Amino acid sequence: MSNTNNGEAFRYDAEVRPGEKRHIMYEVGESFLGDPIEIPVTIINGTRSGPKVFVSAAMHGDEVNGVKVVQEVADRYDPQELAGTIVCLHVLNVPGYRAHMRYLPIYDRDLNRSFPGSENGNEGRRIAKVIYDRFISKCDIGVDFHTSTRNKVTIFHTRADMSDPAVAEVANAFLSSVVLDGAGADGMMRRVASENGIPTITVEMGEAHRYQPVLVDVALERLHNLFAYFGIIDDEFESEPVYQRIVGSKEKKWIRSTAGGWIDMDWGPYPIVEEGKSVCTISDHFKREQHVVEAPFTGLVVGMAASPITVPGQIIAHVVSIDEEDRKVIEEIVDEHGYSTIGTYHWMGRRTTPKEEVELARKEMSAAEEAGADD
Ligand SMILES: [Zn+2]
Repeated sequence: MSNTNNGEAFRYDAEVRPGEKRHIMYEVGESFLGDPIEIPVTIINGTRSGPKVFVSAAMHGDEVNGVKVVQEVADRYDPQELAGTIVCLHVLNVPGYRAHMRYLPIYDRDLNRSFPGSENGNEGRRIAKVIYDRFISKCDIGVDFHTSTRNKVTIFHTRADMSDPAVAEVANAFLSSVVLDGAGADGMMRRVASENGIPTITVEMGEAHRYQPVLVDVALERLHNLFAYFGIIDDEFESEPVYQRIVGSKEKKWIRSTAGGWIDMDWGPYPIVEEGKSVCTISDHFKREQHVVEAPFTGLVVGMAASPITVPGQIIAHVVSIDEEDRKVIEEIVDEHGYSTIGTYHWMGRRTTPKEEVELARKEMSAAEEAGADD
């Protein structure tokens, strides 16, 4: 890599010079009061030329883990150390963010079905158009941070069109372990950007309305790896994750509730359900009626309900099929790192892993030996 300062200016409708970091509030629309809707943007333009990458968050206004990721990226990286440009789009859906809502408020427009946007379209499409034209279309690659929707929890995973080699390269550089493969819906930002030659992935992590620092730290480490892989920063990197499970559309299933009542999960301590065995038991208050919900196949739980009370048809778990090899790796990851780095599985049937049970037994034994010394 050349050390000469050959960076180029980054242009949105103003210009950020090489070696400059600029924080701006950029107008993307107007509110009911006629005042501007502005999104916070940080542009870190390296002194040397290189790829331009955008990182974005709060496309859905109540999904806030990514907002912390983007804030930290904007703070941590210095233009003097970059070959290329990092464009931080801190909060894409500012009206939703203000209202703690997923959609653009009042008419419930999904900003993430509004891309690439249009000048004469509805309010969502107009906002999307400004964001897309000014910032996203100026970049080479992108990572868009989401969480599960309200009332659900999700494992840390990536959504990407793995049939596109350029997108797969971004997913791998982000060290994506679990990837839900697919192009995404019409109007989705990552789909539109990827189709236009800006390979973009979506990262899903944790719960809406929550700040989960462990997941944020994992995201920051993986982004650092991605920046190094693409030569934006000068550091060591891995080219692909240690473990990867790419999930096709036919290999996943939403398991839904068959009755109203209280859910007791029957799986754990690993986030795995087994074919034909109980995922959960749903019971009424008197435990007179109990419904067992069985797993249709052996699978990894990538998402689940956040609430223990349910009605027929509500989602209990989102499961992707796995083979024996996958199972071994997943159990190893949990044994070694616990759940914290993959998601928030604080709610499950069994909580201690076999490894933890051995440790507990050892502690109990040595405590018994100490106590025995007085006898
Ligand atoms: Zn989202």
